[in-house]
Amino acid sequence: MTKIGLEIHCQLTKLESKLFCSCKANYREFEPNHNICPVCMGLPGSLPRLNQKAVESATSIALALSCETPEKIAFFRKNYFYPDLPKNFQITQLNVYGDMSVGGEGYVSVEDKKIKIRRIQLEEDPGRIIYEGASERTKITLVDYNRAGTPLVEIVTDPDFESPRQVRVFLNILSDLLENLGVAEPGLEGAMRADGNVSIKGGNKVEIKNIGSFHDLEKALHFEITRQQSLFERDIEILQETRHWDDRRKITVSSRSKEEDQDYRYFLENDIPWVKIDQSTRDRLKENMPESISSKKERYVEKFDIAPQVADIIASDRYYSKLFENAYSDNNAKDIANLITTDVIGFIDTKEKQENSKITSRHLSELIDAINSKTITRNSAKIALQEIVKSGKDTKDVLQEMDLGQVSDSSEIDTIISQIFEEEKQAVIDAKERPETVNYLVGKVMQKTKGKADPAKTLELIKSKLNQ
Ligand SMILES: [Zn+2]
Repeated sequence: MTKIGLEIHCQLTKLESKLFCSCKANYREFEPNHNICPVCMGLPGSLPRLNQKAVESATSIALALSCETPEKIAFFRKNYFYPDLPKNFQITQLNVYGDMSVGGEGYVSVEDKKIKIRRIQLEEDPGRIIYEGASERTKITLVDYNRAGTPLVEIVTDPDFESPRQVRVFLNILSDLLENLGVAEPGLEGAMRADGNVSIKGGNKVEIKNIGSFHDLEKALHFEITRQQSLFERDIEILQETRHWDDRRKITVSSRSKEEDQDYRYFLENDIPWVKIDQSTRDRLKENMPESISSKKERYVEKFDIAPQVADIIASDRYYSKLFENAYSDNNAKDIANLITTDVIGFIDTKEKQENSKITSRHLSELIDAINSKTITRNSAKIALQEIVKSGKDTKDVLQEMDLGQVSDSSEIDTIISQIFEEEKQAVIDAKERPETVNYLVGKVMQKTKGKADPAKTLELIKSKLNQ
């Protein structure tokens, strides 16, 4: 049996400042080494000061993942020497004297399975190492400390996953949840990273690190499972070790044998006092938490009779759900939801396009009104949508300028049908013999009217003409 566990690191990108100093949490906008101070550079004599907002954001994550949250938390020094860590220790959390990290045991439901969260801890992100140069011999190592000290939440799961696919589903759910909470932007480069550990048939656990994206994680897990299976079949021992994902060769490579926790010589960070998180703070955080994706989805399905897949797409994305929430009335919720998932998504399918889109909730409800009152066809709405996303012009103006008014005048449609019957003699014969092929003729009328003919009326008129 395959067992996979995860360690997910998520930056709290919505915070103003770093975890222990007043440098900006948003290090991305700075020139290298321009977002640093004596604290995050670990200069002698500098003292860390805890960002209380970071504790609250991390506690919100713990609450959202149904984790136990302790009355008070502590920080520890994890000692190791690495160029991206100027202090030679990372300030993190550890549960040695009972539960002291921001989150204890919790879970996430993935399909029908509960994935257990082992713990959630708050820690600082190290700096970044950048390798430059064309070959091994000319390689230069650069270090940028702008990221050092950025607030980071580590989420550790039990080895409850049975397949890389399940991991992918979980990570999608988790990143939607974190985004919905308003504490993180998982789409930002490097804002959410995951390491995996794999064991098969009760054998030793192998950790895989250095994975750039969720997509690569899935590939790395697949590779590692196959590698271990092949060793197992040949009766070769699977070593407990850490392996790195080599993105170029698409394989995992042994990097070091697994160090034990004591190698890090953890000890209490006495520069930061224990932090109390009392019940009233936790109650307040719970109260202020946005509606969860699952409860949103449930509400859409139950209240508006929206299809579960449609409700899922809208509820999982903050942009679409905001657009939907501000557009719907009790009468048109289902239509608005369908318009978003069939057409809007096609034009606004990336975060960047979401940011640049000019469409508002009002546009959506106006378009649905126009469709329902038969002023325009569904197809014309799609054409108008494309323009509105780009320009943000008034719905009325767009429909007028693009001449998208619906043609529902019978004689006008009839004339066009007569033309089509002339041009498509074989299709007419086919439709008489096999009525299910009639849509071809409807399509031709639509083509000729640039999608403006009332489809129901067109079908009705074609059918009666076929029976003449
Ligand atoms: Zn700093």
